This record gives sequence, C-alpha cells and structure tokens, in this order.
Amino acid sequence: MRVELKDEPVPFLITPEFVERVWGFADLRPWIDREPDGRTIGEVWLSGDDCVAASGPWAGRRIGDLFQQYPRELLGNATAEAASPLLIKLIFAREKLSVQVHPDDAMARKYGAARGKTECWAVLQAEPDATVAVGLRAGITIADVERGIREKTLEQMLEIVPVSKGELIYVDAGTIHAILPGSALLEVQQNCDVTYRLYDYGRPRELHVEKGLEALRLRTEAGKVAPHALQDRTVLIEKQYFRIERMTVDGARSQMQLECGMSGRLNYIYVAKGTGSLQPKGAESIALSAQSMVLAPARSGDYSLQSEEPLEIYRIIDMAHGGGGD
Ligand SMILES: [Zn+2]
Repeated sequence: MRVELKDEPVPFLITPEFVERVWGFADLRPWIDREPDGRTIGEVWLSGDDCVAASGPWAGRRIGDLFQQYPRELLGNATAEAASPLLIKLIFAREKLSVQVHPDDAMARKYGAARGKTECWAVLQAEPDATVAVGLRAGITIADVERGIREKTLEQMLEIVPVSKGELIYVDAGTIHAILPGSALLEVQQNCDVTYRLYDYGRPRELHVEKGLEALRLRTEAGKVAPHALQDRTVLIEKQYFRIERMTVDGARSQMQLECGMSGRLNYIYVAKGTGSLQPKGAESIALSAQSMVLAPARSGDYSLQSEEPLEIYRIIDMAHGGGGD
C-alpha cells in the first residue's frame, strides 16, 4: 500500500555542500575521499538550506524549501518560522579562523534575523597539540577586549583549550571563540549565519566590532561538556537546542532501535566511519557509508541501523521542536 507522503515522511540522504574558505584545505584527504578541484575547502555543509535531498520521495528538493513546505512533518509540530532549526557542518581548518562572537535569539531578532547562534563542536580528529579558543581568560574586562581589538592583542586574552578526539565543546551565543588548526570538527549550530568578527589576524575581511561587543558576554556556559555514557550510546551534550549522541553499531549488535525517548523529534544521522544501512519502518532501506548524512523527519517513525563492520554514528536531535507536542 502506498501511503500519502504528506502523512508519512521517510528518512532521506542529503548531498553535502563543499564550501570554500580562506583558511581551508585544497585536499581534504584522508578525512574525505574527494578529488581536489582547485578550491580551498574549509567547511562541508551536511544539512544546509541549499543542500539537496539525495534519496526518497523528496530527492532533488532543496532542504530549506522542504522545511518551508512541510514544517509539521519535519519538525513534529507547527512552527511560526517553518525553517530548518539546525545547521550541521564539518570544519577543517588549516589556518586560524577569525575571533568571533554570535548573537543570542533576542539580539538576532532585534536586527531582523530569525534566531541566534549557539553552537558546539564534536572533535572527530585531533593532532596532539590541537586547541580551540573559547571564552575570555579570568579577569578580562570589556575595556580590555576593546583595547585588545585596537592594539591587535585580543588573541592573548582568549582561553585556549586543548582538544582531543571524542570531546565536545559547547559554545553558547555571546561566547568569544575561534577555531584553531589541528582538528576536524563536527559543528552543530542553530541555523543562523550572523557572525560578528572581532579580529582576523590582519586578513582583509571586514570586522564587526560594535555589534560584536553588544553580543559579547564576559561569562557564559561555554567549555568542554562531560560525556554521559548510556548502555548503547554516549550522550555528548543535551541543551536547549540540540542533543548529540555517539554510538557504534557493529556485527555483534547489528540491529538497534533508536527511539530512546526521542521519537517525534527531527534527527540527523551522520556516519563518521564504516558502512551499513538504515532501515526505516515500512520504507526502502538506505545505504550508509563514511560521511553519509541522513535526515529523519520528526514524523517518520522509528528506524534501525545495520552493519557488518563497526559503524560510528553521530545522531543530532532537534530539542526545540517536536517530542509529542503540537
Ligand atoms: Zn562561531
């Protein structure tokens, strides 16, 4: 029986978008098996509005358009915005990213954006000396920050945090931060493109000092988040906007149900390693390989994952919508 799409959306693959950045790499191998094409790639957008569905009944459709047309099916309940709430990216930095800050929801709306930007980084790979900059050192004041921007000494006022594979760093809106070289990150953020750049190491890109200082908070919740191990997965973070789980599916436990109190919410399955398949209830199975990204609409029901070799999965769940309410 063929059920109507409107009532029964199914999980689908997303084609990633490779985005050029001055601080990126010409060749992303061995992280991503992709022939260099002359562009310097710093970000791979896994769920951007301009990304396109690659399987299922919505194949070929823009993700941003799907959220506009099917907010209930995708998010689980009606939303005034009818927009994709989360943006998930891979970040590969060969050079330092700018020192920046993002607005919270209230400030973003004041200036006409739909939402602010709280983000977090799951460390997929890290060199032994890899670091990121998150927050200000103890005792630094706004006046110090202003002076640091003027005198180009802002970098020395940042809290430098060593990172290793498997860790998660939370960066709530208002936190001054910079991604530094040495790691490959899975970034999960509110779907907002407002960035106030406070310092860019002399690169010729525009700075946004006034609004950056308005967004900046001296103290935030940012920093490393301790993982919470469950029987079959590890919860890396659960906050207002997102929850991230890491899990391994292997031959010994080849099938795994993924409800765990999270059904009815939009969720994404990112494959960090391995091959396998995702079997939605009552729909065609989806082949998974490293770097695959699947969007599971809130109203698509349960699915299972199968694999004959260890399959490392990150599941990102939208916590701001769905979950049974309407
Ligand atoms: Zn940022």
